[in-house]
Amino acid sequence: PVSPSFAIASRSRQASLVWGSRRVTVGGGAPVRVQSMTNTDTVDVIGTAIQVKELAMAGSEMVRLTVNTHEAAKAVPLIRDQLDRMGIDVPLIGDFHYNGHRLLTEIPECAQALSKYRINPGNVGKGDKHDRQFAVMIEAAIRWDKAIRIGVNWGSLDQELMANLMDQNSRRIHPWDVKSVMYEALISSAISSATQAVELGMNPDQIILSCKVSGVQDLVSVYRELSKRCDYALHLGLTEAGMGTKGAVASATALAILLQDGIGDTIRVSLTPQPGESRTQEVVIASEILQALELRSFVPSVTACPGCGRTTSTTFQELTQQIEMFLRTQMPQWRTKYPGVEHLKVAVMGCIVNGPGESKQADIGISLPGTGEAPAAPVFIDGEKCMTLRGDSIAQEFQVIVENYVEK
Ligand code: SF4
Repeated sequence: PVSPSFAIASRSRQASLVWGSRRVTVGGGAPVRVQSMTNTDTVDVIGTAIQVKELAMAGSEMVRLTVNTHEAAKAVPLIRDQLDRMGIDVPLIGDFHYNGHRLLTEIPECAQALSKYRINPGNVGKGDKHDRQFAVMIEAAIRWDKAIRIGVNWGSLDQELMANLMDQNSRRIHPWDVKSVMYEALISSAISSATQAVELGMNPDQIILSCKVSGVQDLVSVYRELSKRCDYALHLGLTEAGMGTKGAVASATALAILLQDGIGDTIRVSLTPQPGESRTQEVVIASEILQALELRSFVPSVTACPGCGRTTSTTFQELTQQIEMFLRTQMPQWRTKYPGVEHLKVAVMGCIVNGPGESKQADIGISLPGTGEAPAAPVFIDGEKCMTLRGDSIAQEFQVIVENYVEK
């Protein structure tokens, strides 16, 4: 027999991002977490707080903010206050580059208001200065009891480290190809920085690593090796994935390959928003990736056929859309009222060819009439045909049936 496949659970260490009574665990058997990042100017306290709220409401379990100037650092505790007043306790992450050592020490309210610091070892300074400045950031994390992410990025790789590795490579009898040297540089930078942080007194459980690149195969190669060489919790994401469909598909492809193998404890889908597109789209896509892999369930799933020449009217597309929208909008209330409702499976099918079969596989399904079929839509509940809907109000009636099923 063919065994069903499943995504393997990660076995990393477990980090915690804490704010008030909220504790979001990352790694060590915790569900793979969804995270996102604001694109507002952090100095704009209200605008940023509103976007954080939107992202949190869409399902982001932690939200990262750019902290690039003294003004931005001063805004962080004010954003935190705004969120606390709105009842949003999502942990905030500060994204630091170049001057994090100064901002975290000169504005301690910022260091306190954040739950995690992202440190990019590629731009903490060079030589002794790097070590001193890196140590200052680690000391802040220890002092305020915060998690850190050592976030290495292909685009801002430590150039000294890269030059050293290239030099060593040139002296090899059989030199590696340039890509392999770059992979090694990314992984070495992340792991050696984590080792340095532990030597400075950082709790290894509170260290999360990332090595982001923009190519799917590069990401897979780097993370497979990174996960073999350490047991830190890993933040997964394809950086600069791009806009719209291209970005979503590239991210889903890369993340799915790794998550299936138990690699990755928190994910971010980095999409370039289309003009006017909501930032929350990246959270929806990240959640969909985890749900598609059956790693997590956020909303009931709707199985729908693509439709073809057998679907005569727009009823089928409309019903699918209405049911999806209905389930999503109900979820905030249903989640607390009906625990486990997110595992519900609904099928909306376009004709008799696959309609009854798929509907029987779902908890509740409907098979709409296709071309040449009698104008009747059988409804299946728990695998049994239980009624047939007819007429112009099939959509409304089916919605009521779904609602009753959930209540029951
Ligand atoms: Fe076409 Fe029917 Fe298959 Fe839907 S179930 S794709 S309408 S043949």
